Amino acid sequence: MSQKSHFDLIVIGAGPAGYVAAIRAALCGLNVACIDKWLDSDNNPVLGGTCLNVGCIPSKALLDTSQRFYDLQHHSDAHGIKAQSAQIDVHTMMERKNKIIQQLTSGISGLFKGNKVSPLFGTGQLLADKKVAFTPHNGKTETLTAEHIILATGSVPTQIPPLPIHDDLVVDSTGALAFDTVPKRMGVIGAGVIGLELGSVWKRLGAEVVVIEALPDFLPAMDKQIAKESLKILSGQGLDIRLGCKVTSSKIDGDTVVVVYENDGKEVSETFDRVVVAVGRRPYTHGVLADDCGVKTDECGFIIVDEYCATNVPHVYAVGDVVRGPMLAHKGSEEGIMVVERIVGKQPTLNYDCIPSIIYTHPEIAAVGKTEHELKSAGVPYKTGSFPFAASGRALAADDAHGLVKLIAHAETDRILGGHIVGPNAADLIQQVAIAIEFQGSAEDLTLMVFGHPTFSEAVHEAALALHNHAIHIINRKTK
Ligand code: FAD
Ligand code: AMP
Repeated sequence: MSQKSHFDLIVIGAGPAGYVAAIRAALCGLNVACIDKWLDSDNNPVLGGTCLNVGCIPSKALLDTSQRFYDLQHHSDAHGIKAQSAQIDVHTMMERKNKIIQQLTSGISGLFKGNKVSPLFGTGQLLADKKVAFTPHNGKTETLTAEHIILATGSVPTQIPPLPIHDDLVVDSTGALAFDTVPKRMGVIGAGVIGLELGSVWKRLGAEVVVIEALPDFLPAMDKQIAKESLKILSGQGLDIRLGCKVTSSKIDGDTVVVVYENDGKEVSETFDRVVVAVGRRPYTHGVLADDCGVKTDECGFIIVDEYCATNVPHVYAVGDVVRGPMLAHKGSEEGIMVVERIVGKQPTLNYDCIPSIIYTHPEIAAVGKTEHELKSAGVPYKTGSFPFAASGRALAADDAHGLVKLIAHAETDRILGGHIVGPNAADLIQQVAIAIEFQGSAEDLTLMVFGHPTFSEAVHEAALALHNHAIHIINRKTK
């Protein structure tokens, strides 16, 4: 039996949505338990969920290693560095990644300890009447009670019937984060965030990579100009991105996989030695909701919540990937914090219109706020201003001058409504636009600020200046 059986708050799931909620609740003085069933490859319980174990962090670790390797091979000559004979040791790369995961997951254990959150390792299930069934790993089920319960059980990779997961040959994102050698020819199904990031990792390390995407448009949710520029840059790096190609069947042939897809009514088949299925993720509620718990899910399996993440059952909330909205770690964490603060009587809200989304290719692709397309559809008058990194002294000095910053502002009020960036450090630059949107800033506010020189940030400044046709380092559309 666990020591206590009644808590102010029980959180089921210790990913970035659940563990952050648990820590915030403890900081608010609540008596908190956080249940998680994740086991690492040695069968040890670990906290951190998808993000730390098989998501954000390991993918960024491999992206950083592979970018260093790629730069040595392709960008060192011009600097006078002779490094073309660099070699990659995949085992060491994976060990480094695993060490980072271990450091961060044990860091959360330390934070739980320091904040007096009780970690409960095993499976949780929501019962009726504010009760939770907790089954420890290798233990007997016990019933816990709580004043409030947060469900944060996350998501898992989606699979497609024509291409089932098969040993090491056809894998999902988790498998692609743990290859022991560089594939010769790798297929990636899905040109979304995860497909592009993992495709980039193995391409940079030497694989021939073909990305097969069912939709005719590249990154259709992104700003069209940024998507077009991103496609040009990534294709230029050798990623073979095939749009409008829907996978219809596959066959294992010895140690290769034959993938068949449809394009323009024609059937095409390609042979790969590894295939990564990256067609999205689905909410995970398997075994989480007892039949009589009362919590409703929608037709896609998401737990239904209101704008404050409350379910239809009083005192039961759900946050993160298991509810509507973008499947992003920071979105889940902020939802967790919002719920806890509302439980203790505060009134925070979450601005779902201001959540940055980032693709960690090189260069990075990032967006926040509205796209031109959305504003046009809503009949909102707007203006745009952009600045290419090719005109940035810092970007040129860094030999990293692809892409642009594009800002969108209201045509009449000048208020910043959106930012779209493909370029160096886009992941960090986009936060400057997010701050401007959140503070209801105008393009003029950005133009009046002093930006350090030389910095990548100056491209944000110049894009704001361009909105007023005052950019200094490019020729403006019209000059007055
Ligand atoms: P999860 O992180 O999935 O955690 C859910 C937890 O609940 C798990 O630990 C699971 O064990 C536990 N659980 C489930 N059911 C039960 C149960 N019944 N009992 C006990 N425990 C249970 N997002 C970003 O913002 N930036 C990125 O760069 C990024 N990169 C990614 C790269 C990859 C390859 C992948 C796969 C995802 C990436 N994501 C990224 C998405 C991000 O990982 C998720 O949005 C995030 O992890 C969701 O957090 P969560 O807490 O809702 O769920
Ligand atoms: P994301 O949800 O951002 O991870 O992107 C997943 C991508 O996979 C989407 O762009 C889908 O269009 C794509 N996709 C889904 N099913 C298939 C399929 N059968 N063949 C090719 N691409 C697919």
